[in-house]
Amino acid sequence: MEISEPVEAARDAARRAYVPYSRFPVGAALLTGDGRVFQGVNVENASYGLTICAERTAAVKAVSEGVRDFRAVAVVAERAAPCPPCGACLQFLLEFNPRLPVILEDAAGRPLVRSLEELLAVPFGAGHLGTAGAAAKPGDGA
Ligand SMILES: [Zn+2]
Repeated sequence: MEISEPVEAARDAARRAYVPYSRFPVGAALLTGDGRVFQGVNVENASYGLTICAERTAAVKAVSEGVRDFRAVAVVAERAAPCPPCGACLQFLLEFNPRLPVILEDAAGRPLVRSLEELLAVPFGAGHLGTAGAAAKPGDGA
């Protein structure tokens, strides 16, 4: 797959963002091991704290379809380039692939790839829980 394809899928998704408050549409496209692409958008709410980001929307869609093999994620926002995932999304994505490539766009619209490890240098992970019940490694599912 060309690196521009997930970026295009993210851009396409951004058109469906629900952003009546911020007017800051973001699109994400999550590539999975089975070759599927899960698109996500930010979805805002009048109770601002309930807003969910595009990246987490895409991840939740994938996991709810039984897909946890995340291979890359593209994130695009028309009004900001590059637009990296927020800390919450980085943490959320880490659960499934700590080495996930994150495809952004630079100010000139060229793909810019960063690793999730680079963007979230000292993450909290399942290993920190230290309980017998928390046997799941990132990428493992119950
Ligand atoms: Zn986020």
